[in-house]
Amino acid sequence: MKDSAKHQGRRLQLCDVLMQKGIRCKRVLNAIGRIPRHVFIDSSFEDFAYQDTAFPIAADQTISQPYTVAFQTEQLDLQPGEKVLEIGTGSGYQTAVLCEMGAKVYSIERQHELFLFSRRILTSLNYNYTGKYGDGYKGMPTYAPFDKIIVTAGAIDVPPALLRQLKTGGKMIIPVGQGTQKMLLIDKISEKDYAVKKMGDFRFVPMLEEKDG
Ligand code: SAH
Repeated sequence: MKDSAKHQGRRLQLCDVLMQKGIRCKRVLNAIGRIPRHVFIDSSFEDFAYQDTAFPIAADQTISQPYTVAFQTEQLDLQPGEKVLEIGTGSGYQTAVLCEMGAKVYSIERQHELFLFSRRILTSLNYNYTGKYGDGYKGMPTYAPFDKIIVTAGAIDVPPALLRQLKTGGKMIIPVGQGTQKMLLIDKISEKDYAVKKMGDFRFVPMLEEKDG
């Protein structure tokens, strides 16, 4: 799909909206300003791509609201070259934001259709990342530990495997709860100690265990 001057203009307007809503990190805003979000959405709904709303994608899932993407990414304090594990690749848009910021990205998706869709789009945009079709509750032990972990589906609790795979000194941002979730920012202080901050209420599709059809 084409990236026109009109799309670019709308992206800058979206960045203004995100700034008004409190997003401060220039690197996050620059990434959002550069990524063609309309490519991640069905072309017939292209007009919605630069509104600050979530939107349905395949397999009854949603592409997260740009504010939520920006907020979660900002909280991670991501530095170029850091290893990031993402749970819930979905459309791949959040993955693109992490890649654009120079992170080394590992991403898991449990819906095969979305695993394939996101891989096609991200590859066509020349983003390098390691994608996995599987259950995010298990993380990716082969590539652990991670500097940062971002979960983009609502978990019932913080998955212990993900805590183990986080580096000491690392951060995890994860929405926890049923229905509405509390966004938790977890700092891993030592192998056994964590500082947990509640960062407000959000609404995500549920993080489901194992693929059951
Ligand atoms: N960041 C994505 C959000 C997609 S919605 C985007 O903006 O497009 C959340 C995604 O998490 C969905 O695609 C859903 O299929 C996926 N998901 C749910 N449970 C999961 C699990 N246990 N492991 C991996 N992915 C999961």
